[in-house]
Amino acid sequence: MGDMKRILTIIAMGATVFGMEACDKTDKKGGEGDFQWTIDRFDDIKVMRYRVPGFEELGLEQKLFIYYLSEAALSGRDILWDQNFDCNLAVRRTLEGIYRTWEGDRASAEWAAFETYLKKVWFANGVHHHYSGDKFVPGFTAEYFDALLAGVPNEALPLDFSAGEREQLLAAVREVIFDPALYPLRVNQAEGEDLLATSAMNYYEGVSQAEAEKFYADMAAAGGSDPTPVSYGLNSKLTRNKPKYATPQEAAPYEIVWREGGMYGAAISQIVFWLEKAYEVAGETQKKIIKSLIEYYRTGDLRDFDAYNVAWVEDTASEIDFVNGFIESYGDPLGIKGSWEANVSFVDREATRRTQIISDNAQWFEDNSPVEPRFRKAEVKGVSARVITVATIGGDCYPATPIGINLPNADWIRRDHGSKSVTIQNITDAYDKAAEGNGFREEFVLREEDRERMKKYGSLGGNLHTDLHECLGHGSGQLVPGVTGTELRQYGSAVEESRADLFALYYIADPKLVELGLIPSLDVAWAEYASYMMNGLQTQLARIVPGKSVEESHMRNRQAIAQWCYERGRADNVIEKVVRDGKTYVVVNDFERLRELVGELLGEVQRIKSEGDFEAGRDFIENYGVRVDPALHAEVLERYNALDLAPYGGFVNPRYELVRDLNSGGISDVRVTYDESYVDQMMRYGRDYSFLPTRN
Ligand code: ZN
Repeated sequence: MGDMKRILTIIAMGATVFGMEACDKTDKKGGEGDFQWTIDRFDDIKVMRYRVPGFEELGLEQKLFIYYLSEAALSGRDILWDQNFDCNLAVRRTLEGIYRTWEGDRASAEWAAFETYLKKVWFANGVHHHYSGDKFVPGFTAEYFDALLAGVPNEALPLDFSAGEREQLLAAVREVIFDPALYPLRVNQAEGEDLLATSAMNYYEGVSQAEAEKFYADMAAAGGSDPTPVSYGLNSKLTRNKPKYATPQEAAPYEIVWREGGMYGAAISQIVFWLEKAYEVAGETQKKIIKSLIEYYRTGDLRDFDAYNVAWVEDTASEIDFVNGFIESYGDPLGIKGSWEANVSFVDREATRRTQIISDNAQWFEDNSPVEPRFRKAEVKGVSARVITVATIGGDCYPATPIGINLPNADWIRRDHGSKSVTIQNITDAYDKAAEGNGFREEFVLREEDRERMKKYGSLGGNLHTDLHECLGHGSGQLVPGVTGTELRQYGSAVEESRADLFALYYIADPKLVELGLIPSLDVAWAEYASYMMNGLQTQLARIVPGKSVEESHMRNRQAIAQWCYERGRADNVIEKVVRDGKTYVVVNDFERLRELVGELLGEVQRIKSEGDFEAGRDFIENYGVRVDPALHAEVLERYNALDLAPYGGFVNPRYELVRDLNSGGISDVRVTYDESYVDQMMRYGRDYSFLPTRN
């Protein structure tokens, strides 16, 4: 089932979109040399920039290829805004019109509140928080807003409404912003309610949950036992009462497909325009991929999308890669519709060597894992995850972006053709750089020796953990005959994440890693252990609202592992909660013994998975991963909030510009610059990439 929590790790049918543990990666300053990593800070958000190392060294054709793909990645921006909520474009364009033309006082507190609201809307691609989905509450009054509205000239308001509709538009925008009872939640997941009627997202209109579920169940049934089914409903809106597109109008629900000439056609045409440019400078393999993507955008036929995915996943050699399309379904409470997203990237050769070594030794890791031999895979194939440098992020990857991607999502393509897994190192580097000196470690890490190790090896430890988790962890082990893998039900994903994390934790502390040249010493592992246990037992609570328990799968898995190790090692004082001056600290006293505990738990969690032992899986997660100690929680929140850290982060893109030769007029280079502010970038994107009507 879809889940909108893009920033943390999310599992949907084995596909992973994972992100930084934001708690220890945030600050408001940060800096190295004259490169400013953190460029804006408001509410619970910080905006950073990322570097694109290696871009300058690419050849002109490669740079151009990235440039064209980047334009394609930005051209679909408005699609996501409209998908999130059908008033988002009206709100954004009205606010931007005010921001551009307001001639009154820009130094007042109310203006500052207006500006913060606009920054939040930009960050969330709409009026609902990008993570929680709750509608924003403005920090300024409706009366102040009326004064702002009165000052906006017609030409600064959304292009496609006539002056006569001004009052109507502004009334609607005002209502959306100020009436808390209207559209309170983007995606409602509460069982027992009609999830479509109670969610503000724009994937369905005039259709009940039961009708939508029946519609897609019927469609799947009509497909019979097709071993290669399309991703039903992925690229369309399900509606029944939109006469603009209904020809002929039907009473029964029907789909409006997102394609050239269809819904969102104007933006899709722009995407196709840039893809065609990219096609001209692409290599042979990528010509084929781009061609199939263009074909899909033209027809809207999901068979074409599958053909594109197969071509894409089989290309593991190309230096430059990209994602562009309707991909993840976390924004749909029914988990069917794909939100539009894009990114452009190229291989980080040096870091990819690291994942290659891990992958090449996959069998050794499997054979030596501390699980019962019958639960091990006889023949294991490591996923060759590549490490990439991202050049542009767009759509649902912007500004909040995942640090890794594992695609495609279609089960049968993964089964028959495999999947591509990437970690995005220049984004994780930016998080690390931006977090330097934010005071987090000084506040939560008691011992100087641990802080030193984290400073020195924290980044490497974190990256290696991710590599081991992705390349080996998820792919290790096997089910015993008769077990299907679905037995663990609602605990399945937390148990699965535990398994992958434990695999990573166990092997990051193996001397084999030193032997393979992946780490200089086990100090890398001890840095990771100290961070992981502190996070699982304590600091990740900073993300939870008082009174709530741990709900998100990855947070549950981290707490479950840390808590289990804490309790299991209690007699030997392996992990200790030290209280000093009224502050609690998590300290690992015996790293070697902790590794043994990790191995022991890996054996048990693998058994639970292999045997499909629902009761044991439930007990492990419920007993160790869910409950929150309210006193500790309150303490963490207080200490965390005192640091004024932002729990959520995102990024502006670098800016790419074509450089022309003065004599010939031909393109001689693509220049990358990093000096655009958050507001400037958002205003520029709003101006240059607004291809859709305000109402679609
Ligand atoms: Zn995972």
